[in-house]
Amino acid sequence: AKRDGRNALRFFTGEMQAQSVRALTLENALRRALEREQLALHYQPQVELLSGRVIGAEALLRWCHPELGAISPTEFIPVAESCGLILPIGEWVLRSAVQQLRRWMDAGLGELTMAVNLSSVQFRHADLPALVSRILDEAGVPARLLELELTEGVAMVDPLGAIAVMNDLHARGIRLSIDDFGTGYSSLSYLKKFRVYKLKIDQSFVRDLTDDPEDRAIVSAIISMAGSLGLQTIAEGVETVGQLAYLRERGCTEVQGYHFSRPLAAADFESYVRGGSRG
Ligand code: C2E
Ligand code: CA
Ligand code: CA
Ligand code: CA
Repeated sequence: AKRDGRNALRFFTGEMQAQSVRALTLENALRRALEREQLALHYQPQVELLSGRVIGAEALLRWCHPELGAISPTEFIPVAESCGLILPIGEWVLRSAVQQLRRWMDAGLGELTMAVNLSSVQFRHADLPALVSRILDEAGVPARLLELELTEGVAMVDPLGAIAVMNDLHARGIRLSIDDFGTGYSSLSYLKKFRVYKLKIDQSFVRDLTDDPEDRAIVSAIISMAGSLGLQTIAEGVETVGQLAYLRERGCTEVQGYHFSRPLAAADFESYVRGGSRG
């Protein structure tokens, strides 16, 4: 048993070593990714459920490295957060997304919103509200068209600080969505304390919506609670008409997912919007 334990330990540390080597490789490559223009944004349509109209986009970061290939944001964002690179990368994401929105406005695509994911590291950085305002001003984009997506965890370390930042963003007219809603630590009082505009129902609740009674109950409860509190709801990860039907019946306001479209390059997003409404 003792020997087994030691082997298990050796295997474990070997695995950890491989992981940290990979993280270090990514960190070094990521340092050059911005200047070498390896980063790009893709845009996933957000659809108003009642009308079937595309009313916005979520910007999702893509990294294609010449040797390492395409690397998932779920892998490289944590690396960027732990080495501080998330600040310049996050600023690039904000600026690029807002500038893209400006181009779509100029191209006559109608009034769309742009949702941008924000790391907790960015959220806690003192400059954030002023930075966001500056980026909006530079592009001439109204603040109400930008939605910052935050996960529930961001307010946990320093709730008072988080309230101050949220109030500052709110005063500037910038909207906040809670991403992956229902998976974090938030209590219901969270929604009372924090200035939130929209709840994004996590895809883990949407996945089995057509046959899991618990998921149906959770989604239904989130939608009606949000409605009572005057909050918008968007369901993410919608892949089937069955999921869509249930969300429509419950009064969910917006949907996003492969049923409508995968995240698209900017030009493809534009063609998609010009293609008309979806149900
Ligand atoms: P997220 O914000 O929860 O984004 C939703 C993820 O689900 C995206 O994966 C999206 O491509 C995927 N998705 C959309 N519709 C469907 C669907 O119908 N079915 C399924 N199975 N998946 C769907 P992606 O693009 O790989 O992003 C993963 C995560 O990486 C994001 O989760 C977000 O947490 C993070 N991320 C992406 N871009 C950024 C960014 O610019 N900044 C920060 N801080 N995080 C980002
Ligand atoms: Ca998101
Ligand atoms: Ca999400
Ligand atoms: Ca997520």
